[in-house]
Amino acid sequence: MTQPTQSILDKYPEFEATIGIEVHVQLKTNTKIFCGCPNSFGDKPNTNICQICCGYPGTLPVLNSKVVDYAIMTGLATNCSINQSSYFARKHYFYPDLPKNYQITQDKTPICFGGHVTIPTGENQTKTINLMRIHIEEDAGKNIHSPAGYSLVDLNRAGTPLLEIVTHPDISSADEARSYLMQLHALVRYLGVSDANMEQGSFRADVNISIKKKTDTQLGTRAELKNINSFKFIHQAIEYEIERQIGIVQAGEKVAQETRLWDSKQHKTYGMRGKGDAADYRYFVDPDLPELIIDDEWIDEIEKKLPELPQQKLVRFQSEYKLTAYEAGVLTSDKDLADYFENTAQICKQPKLASNWILRDVLGYLKEQKLAITESPISPQHLAELIGELDKGTINSKAAQTVFAEMIASGKAPAVIIEEKDLKQIGSEAELEKIILEIIENNPDNVEKYRSGNDRVFTFFVGQCMKATRGKGNPKIITQLLKKHLA
Ligand code: ZN
Ligand code: MN
Repeated sequence: MTQPTQSILDKYPEFEATIGIEVHVQLKTNTKIFCGCPNSFGDKPNTNICQICCGYPGTLPVLNSKVVDYAIMTGLATNCSINQSSYFARKHYFYPDLPKNYQITQDKTPICFGGHVTIPTGENQTKTINLMRIHIEEDAGKNIHSPAGYSLVDLNRAGTPLLEIVTHPDISSADEARSYLMQLHALVRYLGVSDANMEQGSFRADVNISIKKKTDTQLGTRAELKNINSFKFIHQAIEYEIERQIGIVQAGEKVAQETRLWDSKQHKTYGMRGKGDAADYRYFVDPDLPELIIDDEWIDEIEKKLPELPQQKLVRFQSEYKLTAYEAGVLTSDKDLADYFENTAQICKQPKLASNWILRDVLGYLKEQKLAITESPISPQHLAELIGELDKGTINSKAAQTVFAEMIASGKAPAVIIEEKDLKQIGSEAELEKIILEIIENNPDNVEKYRSGNDRVFTFFVGQCMKATRGKGNPKIITQLLKKHLA
């Protein structure tokens, strides 16, 4: 969810920012894009490699059709048109982790073009971020620079399939940038095309930022922020970069066109390398790969397989479960969380209560422990049972908190915990009445005070009852009986 924050631009009302974002998404296919090597992260260096992904002379790449499926899927989910005839191109540059000395990518004919993503920008407000293109390409390997002064090359990543998703420069603040990235991140995870793990680099954002005075007609010089691996840091880096560029312009100097990195400890960006106008990559159509033709049937088939998307789920959660836009927004921000909620709600038949418990207690605990919803020690089944016991009146809400804590600690079912800890609420009127009459008899002074108009003593009596029942009295019945006997 977007938390509206104060924008750094509020401090400089005469300036505006122009931001465009390129995201590289690693696709979750079993094998690499042009060979049969396993596409997996974290294995021993240079074990998932062959002559093709190492670029030996004389080898020929063969396109993995799953990559095309995933590209079409992502294109359809972002309202793109699908290019039914596209080509692969060679992008030439030298880098030790790129043994062919060119990257296979798409140049003039991206597989998807047009399209847009809608982002929330405030209470009931949205903005459309237009996409320029989505194209297919291969990832490079990885250089590992040792502090001892030498470098190693791991080619396991070489040939990992990527989608590069490029926006128009439609984004105008750090909030919007973060909101777009979170939306896109949730989308590729919903589609199941990527695990989009930012720390492992399977969802990488490059952010181009420039600023200008609102009265200027020409765009400012842009700097590119690279390799930032969390939404929070991206937001901080953009805010910093906007203010840095404004400072340069206000001092009458020129912003340099360069790539910059974010130092999350010192909270500042720093220059990594200058970047002239698009280096000459000598793109040309790769003669080793045929034209990629996608017929209508292929697109139809993928369209039929599209799962429910975050936006659709958001609308359905509000109508089907009567949740607020905020509640539905949080619950659908992640597919696993949405599933957790629906499983719980279906078992306990109390969607509103399920939403309350998940948003407040479950997410509160997971956040504190830095756990994902899939790592929750409480299953939807157990949470639903707890909600059921509370709703039936077997336990009161204080005892429910005790049960919740014990479910986390022991993983036991709520019914077992209620039995073992003797938490059943005392709901019998006769039993409670006996206790209440005794308390009234023992506290004549407070009874007098209450009867002469001091309403605040009422909480004293409720407290006494809870104490006498060791927290297990049904508060509703206690209140009714107290009102009756104190009157
Ligand atoms: Zn290979
Ligand atoms: Mn790229």
